[in-house]
Amino acid sequence: MAQYLKRGMDAGAIEEADAKVRETVENILDDVKARGDDAIRDLSEKFDTWSPMSFRLSPEEIRDAIAQVPARDLEDIKFAQAQVRNFAEKQKASMLDIEVETMPGVVLGHKHIPVNSIGCYVPGGRYPMVASAHMSIVTAKVAGVKRIIACAPPFRGGPHPAIVAAMHFGGADEIYVLGGVQAVAAMALGTSTIAPVDMIVGPGNAYVAEAKRQLYGRVGIDLLAGPTETLVIADDTVDGEICATDLLGQAEHGPTSPAVLLTNSEKLARDTMAEVERLLAILPTADAARKAWEDYGEVIVCRDEAEMVVEADRIASEHVQVMTRDPDYFLANMKNFGALFLGPRTNVAYGDKVIGTNHTLPTKKNARFTGGLWVGKFLKTCTYQKVLTDEASALIGEYCSRLCILEGFSGHAEQANVRVRRYGRRNVGY
Ligand code: NAD
Repeated sequence: MAQYLKRGMDAGAIEEADAKVRETVENILDDVKARGDDAIRDLSEKFDTWSPMSFRLSPEEIRDAIAQVPARDLEDIKFAQAQVRNFAEKQKASMLDIEVETMPGVVLGHKHIPVNSIGCYVPGGRYPMVASAHMSIVTAKVAGVKRIIACAPPFRGGPHPAIVAAMHFGGADEIYVLGGVQAVAAMALGTSTIAPVDMIVGPGNAYVAEAKRQLYGRVGIDLLAGPTETLVIADDTVDGEICATDLLGQAEHGPTSPAVLLTNSEKLARDTMAEVERLLAILPTADAARKAWEDYGEVIVCRDEAEMVVEADRIASEHVQVMTRDPDYFLANMKNFGALFLGPRTNVAYGDKVIGTNHTLPTKKNARFTGGLWVGKFLKTCTYQKVLTDEASALIGEYCSRLCILEGFSGHAEQANVRVRRYGRRNVGY
């Protein structure tokens, strides 16, 4: 039985906080639906003190922003985008269109069609999340999306130059400086200056994730990628310092980011807890990380690796860092995770920023039913069928007619009957 050395906030308190976010977002979306552009401007002013003449950047403003980015940073951004593009292209190549003859004369197929237009949300409240631009925009471009628009909130009073550069080099067709629920609403519902998109993608805080959830159906969404979560699975092959570093490296995202250690070594658990305290005293982002650790941090000691898998699948964390004797055991056995980081040589920051896998990943146990953002999320798998011979049409038609009558669908049955008569020159035998 797994033993808790440290527990996070109880489920009731988390549900209460979620309910408040749901209500806030509902009110904001109602306001935008009722007052359109005026509401978006007022909300941007209220939450971000930002109300420019136009939320959209002109080509000159984009050029000026990029000119402020140091050459080294531009090179780094382009390197990261090349990694994301390369892996997305390989993934796309694995998504084959198929066409098969399932019975003589019966041809079934599917083809992948890119979503026509998408809106990429790039977070920028606490940190300017440049990397989120690569993850959404570059991947959508590889998928073949025709119109890609991108929104990020203002950062310290204006567009963040490196985010603008990443959006531009990633391939965004329109760039807006607009954040939060109002940005998601503007992209989904459209405004007098923003034509609505078919799908919204990208991570964000709890308000952004909830806005996507409430707008789903009106538009498509990739997945719910809210406040970052991390789970470190470790045994006595590593030490407390590396575990604590990997926990706090993600807890710094914000005060509601869970960081959990799962181990089969009580000594490692206690060393890690001590190291967390030591590092919190020196980490420049300790304000966010400390609150996250105090409220949401957990330390769980398990009997063995099998129990660690059970616990990890129950937690279904966004990120799972595995540092054990045999990390591949977790790759083979775990079922619920956003992304796995196997072995001590890699870590979540590599995936977040540069290695090439996508960093937009499911939170709040959504890893039970979806993986993260990838090129396939931008491609609709659409089926088609053809019946090439009279015999095949009449044969399928007989089965179809009887199955329609079984369900009481006379009109459906007649669609089949007419074909059995025409192409089979007979009536359906009941
Ligand atoms: P953000 O851009 O997501 O949110 C900032 C916006 O939130 C602001 O523009 C403002 O309009 C809105 N806002 C702030 N307070 C509000 C309130 N009380 N009511 C309504 N709206 C409000 O930036 P952020 O806040 O720094 O959050 C980024 C988040 O993205 C972090 O939680 C991070 O962990 C998460 N993230 C998740 C993933 C993932 O894949 N799951 C990846 C990267 C980042």
